[in-house]
Amino acid sequence: MSLLFLRERGGMMKVYVCSQHVDKAMDVVVDEYETFPEFEEADISTDCEYCEDNAAYMVANTGSSTK
Ligand SMILES: [Zn+2]
Repeated sequence: MSLLFLRERGGMMKVYVCSQHVDKAMDVVVDEYETFPEFEEADISTDCEYCEDNAAYMVANTGSSTK
């Protein structure tokens, strides 16, 4: 499985995950960006980044790197 975070210029990322993998996705965001992620119910139908279940949540780093 490849890495699937959608990284955009400016450091934004978001990832769709199932309910089992929300914690994992949040850990990754905290680890990589040192900011607490925003998470909300998935607004599209897609697969979890970490397994083949339907994604239930969208986890995003909303922290701006410009402080
Ligand atoms: Zn999953």
